[in-house]
Amino acid sequence: MIDCLFCKIVRGEIPATKVAENEVCLAFRDIGPKAPVHVLVIPKSHYGSMDDVPTAEVIGAMGLMAQQVARQEGIAETGYRCVINTGADGGQTVGHVHLHVLGGRALGWPPG
Ligand code: 5GP
Ligand code: ZN
Repeated sequence: MIDCLFCKIVRGEIPATKVAENEVCLAFRDIGPKAPVHVLVIPKSHYGSMDDVPTAEVIGAMGLMAQQVARQEGIAETGYRCVINTGADGGQTVGHVHLHVLGGRALGWPPG
């Protein structure tokens, strides 16, 4: 069994506030929100980073769940940002690929 924080959330071993779920992906609230809406979308299968995701199906499923989350959270109209931090320079801190859905306020650009 993989010793990975987000795999433990998928298995229900660590609690998380789920927002959406299907066969491929799970969405849950970020524990340290950087915006009024901050949800993480992950594949249920373990891939270390965006660089390891092997199929368009998984990437597409993450993108479609991000759309669903934005609509559910009421930010589809006002706008939102999808971010996949990848590797050290990308600022990735958890080694299971995840897509941040951020919104609910105007977000600055460029990121620091
Ligand atoms: P990264 O920096 O890798 O792009 O994003 C990792 C995100 O995971 C951070 O925004 C952080 O707040 C979130 N996070 C870390 N540990 C936990 C946890 O145990 N539960 C939840 N829900 N989010 C977490
Ligand atoms: Zn994992």
